[in-house]
Amino acid sequence: MISPMGDRQLAGLLSALAEAPDFASAASYLLERVVDLTRTKRGCMLRIDSLQDALVLVASHDLNEAPKSGPSLADLSNPLVLSALSLSAVADAPGLDTQGFGAGPWSVIPFFQPRVRGAPPILPAQQATEIASKSGIKLLALSERRLGTAPAGVILLSGTIGADGLAAATDLVSLASPVIARLASLEEALEAGERLRQQRERLTLMVDSLPDPVVITDASNDIIAQNQRAVRLLNVQEGDSSGRRRAIELNNLLFTSFLSRAVMTGRVPGSESPRELNLVDPDEGHDLLFEVLAHPLGERVGPEDAVLSVLRDVTDLRRAANELERQVLRVRLAEQKATGERDRLNLILENVADPILVTDERSNIILMNDQAEQLFETRGAEPRSRREIQAVQGNDTKVTSFISEFALLATNARRERMTLQHPATNRVFPVEVVSGKIRNDRGEPIAIVSVLHDLTKEVEVERLYEALKRLNSELEERIREATADLAEQNARLQWQSQEVERANRLKSEFLASMSHELRTPINALIGYTALLLDGVLGEINARQSDALQRGRAAAEHLLALINDILDLAKIEAGKMPLHPESVTLKEVIQEVALQVEPMVRKKTLEFRMDVADDCPVIHTDRTKVKQVLLNLLSNAVKFTNRGTVTVEARCAPGGVRIDVIDTGIGIRESDLHAIWEDFRQVDQSRTREYGGTGLGLSITRKLLDRLGGSVAVKSVYGEGSTFSVFLPLRVPMPPFDETPPISIIKP
Ligand code: ADP
Repeated sequence: MISPMGDRQLAGLLSALAEAPDFASAASYLLERVVDLTRTKRGCMLRIDSLQDALVLVASHDLNEAPKSGPSLADLSNPLVLSALSLSAVADAPGLDTQGFGAGPWSVIPFFQPRVRGAPPILPAQQATEIASKSGIKLLALSERRLGTAPAGVILLSGTIGADGLAAATDLVSLASPVIARLASLEEALEAGERLRQQRERLTLMVDSLPDPVVITDASNDIIAQNQRAVRLLNVQEGDSSGRRRAIELNNLLFTSFLSRAVMTGRVPGSESPRELNLVDPDEGHDLLFEVLAHPLGERVGPEDAVLSVLRDVTDLRRAANELERQVLRVRLAEQKATGERDRLNLILENVADPILVTDERSNIILMNDQAEQLFETRGAEPRSRREIQAVQGNDTKVTSFISEFALLATNARRERMTLQHPATNRVFPVEVVSGKIRNDRGEPIAIVSVLHDLTKEVEVERLYEALKRLNSELEERIREATADLAEQNARLQWQSQEVERANRLKSEFLASMSHELRTPINALIGYTALLLDGVLGEINARQSDALQRGRAAAEHLLALINDILDLAKIEAGKMPLHPESVTLKEVIQEVALQVEPMVRKKTLEFRMDVADDCPVIHTDRTKVKQVLLNLLSNAVKFTNRGTVTVEARCAPGGVRIDVIDTGIGIRESDLHAIWEDFRQVDQSRTREYGGTGLGLSITRKLLDRLGGSVAVKSVYGEGSTFSVFLPLRVPMPPFDETPPISIIKP
C-alpha cells in the first residue's frame, strides 16, 4: 500500500526542486522521489525536445541501458508518446522492452509545462482513447487538464505499481511539473542564449573579416553598427596620428553627405542602383572608390529607417576597368589603323602595274594582286588549258624557290633577274624580282613581299643602247678615217691651189709683159699697112689693096685681143690702180654713146638713152666705168641686127643702176653662166660672124668687182638681153696692193 505524501513532505520536495541548481539535478531528484514513492527499483525521465520533435532521456535511476533518445513524437502508437501527448498515465505499457528499456512491466506517468511558444499541443481525449484501444495501451483515467498546460515529457517506472501508487505518483509529478518545466525552460533559455552568443560571435567574426566596410545607420545617419573595416575607415582610435584623424574626419563627412544626398534625392534605400562613394585610405592616404549597396533593415532588426550599407571597394576594379577600357580603346585604334593600312595596301596592290606577291614564312602565297594572279593562278576567270597550267607551274617553281632561298638568308632584301612565261600569251619575258621581309615586334620574319618588274622594255633599251654604242664607235672610226683623208686631200688641195695661184700669177705677169712686147710690132704693122693702103709708098692695085686690108684687119684683131689680154692680166696681177673722182653718169653715157654711134648707124639700129634727172654724182673711177659701159654697149650693138639698143640709168639703194637693153639674138638660159668666163664665146659659128675675143664680159665683171659694184644678166633667147650694172655712190678703197710680180719673163 502506497501512502500519498504528506503536505510537509510535498513542500520539502517542491522547495528542494526549486533550489536545484539545474534541470538535470532537479529531474534526477524528482525521479528518485517518484521511484521511492512507488517503491519501484528502476526508472527514467524523458523530456520532449521541441527541436528534435522527439522524447529524449534527461535522467535515469538504475537504468543504465535506457536509450539516450526515445521515440519520435509522430509515433502516436508508442505508449511513451501517447502518454506524453495525452497527459494520461499508462499502466503496464507494452513493447518498451523492445525499445531498449529492458524487461517490464512498465508504467508511464506524463508531466507537463506551461504552454509556451513551440510547445506541442495536447492530444484530444477521444483521439487518445482511440489510439490506445487500437494499440492495446491501457490509458489510465486522464489526469485533470489544466488551462494553459502543454505536454512536457514522461517518467518511466519499472515494476508493478498498484493503482493507488500510480495515482499518487501522478499527483506528485503533476505538482512538480511546473517547477521542473520552469527549470527546463530556464535551461533552454540559457542554452539558447549561449547558442545565440556563439552565433553572434561567429557572425561578428564573419562581418569583421569582410574586406568591405559594412555599416548600419539610423534615421539621422548616425552609425549604430559597423564592421572592423568600417571602423578603420570611419572611427578614430586612441593613439591615431593627426593625419589619420583628418582622413577619418573627411571620410565621415563624405559618408554622411553621401547618405544625406540619398535621403534628399528621395530614393528608397535599397531600391536604387549602387552608387559610388569616394573615401580616403587613412593609412596609405590614397583615394578609395566604393560602390554602396544599401538595404533597409526594417523594424525586426533595428530602429525604424535603419539602413545597412555595404561599401564594396571597387578601387582596384575601377582601375582595372579603366585600364581595360584604355586597352580596348588602344586595341580598337590599332584595329582601325590596321584596317586603314590594309585598305591602303590593297589599294596600292591593285593599282600597281607590276605583279606583287605576299608569301608567309613557309613561302605559301597568301596575297597577290590581279597582275600576279595572271602569272601564278591556275584557276583563272576562264578555265586554263594544259599549256597555261604548265606555264603557271613553271613560274611558281622559279619564284617560290627564289623566295624560299631568300627566307633562309639573314638579309632583309634580295633582287634577282629571271625569265617568266605569260600563260595567256605564251610570251617569255625577263623580270627582276625584288623581295623584302616583313618582321614582327620580335624581329621574326612573318611575310615576304615580292615585286616582279617586267624588264622587257629595259632589256630592249639596253640592247638598242648597245647597238647604238657599237654604231657610234664605228661611225667615229669612219669619221676619223674620213677626217684623215680629208686632211690629206685638203693639204693636197691647198698645195695645188697655191700652185695654181702661183701659176696664174706667173701667167698674168707673163701675159702683161708679153702683150706689151707684142703691141709695139702690131702697131708698126697696122701703121705701115695704113701707109701702103693710103698710097703714101706708091700706087697699089686692087688685089694688093684687098690683101693689105685683110692684113690690117687681122692686125687690128690681134691688137684688140692683146689689149684685152693686157687689161685682164693687169687686173688679175693687181696692177690696175683706181683713180676715183666725181662722175656725172649722164656725161659718161653720152661719151660712150658717141663711141658706138658709127656702129649703130651702120647697122641701122635705134639707139635710146634714158638717164633719170635725179641720178646722183658718184665718186668712182671714170675710165673704168666708161670701159664697162663700152663693153656692154658694143656687145648689145654687135649681137643686135634690128630694133633698139637702150641705156637707162636710175637711182638704186646705195648707188645707181644702169641697164643696157637690146632686142638682139639673146642668150640661151644654159649659157647664162658661161658667158662670164675668160675667152668664152657662146656660139663659135655665130661669134665668128660677130667677131670678138670672148674676154669682154670677164673684164667687165672684174672691173665692177674692183669698183665695188656688180653686173647681172637676163635674156630671152631670140628676143634680146638686158645687162644690169650697179655702181655704189662711193668706190671702196681697199689698201692698194702694189706687190710686184714674183718674176718677169722677158722674151
Ligand atoms: P666677145 O668679144 O665675143 O664679145 P664677150 O666676153 O664680150 O666676148 O662676150 C662673150 C659672149 O657672150 C659673146 O661671144 C656672145 O656670144 C655673148 N654675148 C655678149 N653680149 C651679148 C648680147 N648683148 N647679146 C647676145 N649675146 C651676147
